[in-house]
Amino acid sequence: MEQNETGFTTGIVHSDRLAGVEHGGVRQAIHTSVQFGYERVEDLIGVFQGTVKGTFNYARQGTPTTAALEAKLTRLEQGRGTVCFATGMGALTAVFLTFLKAGDHLVSSRFVFGNTNSLFGTLRDLGIAITLVDAGQAVAVAAALRPNTRMVFVETIANPGTQIPDLPGIGALCREAGLLYVVDNTVTSPALFVPRTVGASLVVNSLSKTLAGHGAALGGAVTDTGEFDWQAYPNIFDKYRRGDPAMWGLHQIRKKALRDMGASLSSEQAHQISIGTETLALRVQRSSATALELARFLRSHPATGTVYYPGLEEHPQFEVARKWFGAGSWLLSFDLRNVDALQRVINALRIPVKATGLGDTRTLIIPVASTIFWEAGLEIRKEMGIADGMVRVSVGLEDLPDLIRDFERALGQA
Ligand SMILES: *Cc1c(COP(=O)(O)O)cnc(C)c1O
Repeated sequence: MEQNETGFTTGIVHSDRLAGVEHGGVRQAIHTSVQFGYERVEDLIGVFQGTVKGTFNYARQGTPTTAALEAKLTRLEQGRGTVCFATGMGALTAVFLTFLKAGDHLVSSRFVFGNTNSLFGTLRDLGIAITLVDAGQAVAVAAALRPNTRMVFVETIANPGTQIPDLPGIGALCREAGLLYVVDNTVTSPALFVPRTVGASLVVNSLSKTLAGHGAALGGAVTDTGEFDWQAYPNIFDKYRRGDPAMWGLHQIRKKALRDMGASLSSEQAHQISIGTETLALRVQRSSATALELARFLRSHPATGTVYYPGLEEHPQFEVARKWFGAGSWLLSFDLRNVDALQRVINALRIPVKATGLGDTRTLIIPVASTIFWEAGLEIRKEMGIADGMVRVSVGLEDLPDLIRDFERALGQA
């Protein structure tokens, strides 16, 4: 069975066997060894010098278990290779600190994950300039470019407002300008969208969300799509400008971020995530279908204001969401008209878990302004269109009639 010869789920469930598993195991074992030893010192030297491929050295730089997960993610993202990290934030930090230097400029969508936005503050302190734009139109990104711009960063569907950037337009712009195009694919996941198809250079996935899906593991990943010309990129260190140029970026991020900064994924967590990925497509289909029906119900209810969901016709990017993702995903938000009733309504819900987090088998619900966007402050919330009555829902796998009944009863409290 050749890589990428089969469909999405066929590929995932047989992925570990492709590389051969000892004792005929159908999945990769959990390799807990921190050290990897060799009979001959010549081999050990070869491992250090990178002349012996597919070998392991010290688990901070990877294990057979994390490598198996990396191979699986590379396949899902149709990329050249993947490096895994301990969390999604670890993966994002790795991308920014590996490929940007003081004096560089980054253009990002203003609608990004709250912790990513907070990380931008740290990058600014390190001398990296950042311009935030409304990336719904590629022209806004083009207008923000400077001679020292190196990277453009967007998320496929932003949380909590579900804004969608001009993904192919920005891809064309970055290709023309030789910019690194980094796409956070967490909310769509490779089940709905493959950023390589719009020219993304690097794809970041939080594995803690829908890729694992069970809420029992943390992880993050960076996949190189093979679309970027690393030879033209100034921030590749001389010592990593060796061998196949297509692998320079991954080589540098593995050395500079995984080895030197150490946000490494453990084999145990990699194993948990790997199991979760087997049902990714099934879960995303089910929770997206449920989210659409729940969004329609919420829209029709008098207690709610705007419902933010790309699967609704009135969503500004409804057409492109259908074309690019084929579905609106499992993430939706809505404004409760009566802000005073916010806590009463959420407390009245029996099924959704009152918790942060996304992409779980269980539906999760959270009021936005007073929690995940509390630290951001009123001004940023206003800029991002986050009203005091906004509620975010990560739709899980529960049966639709149960969720509708629960929301109907709870909204009666508004
Ligand atoms: C959760 C999330 C992250 C961070 O991932 P962790 O694994 O929680 O560190 C990054 N980007 C997006 C879009 C997310 O939703």
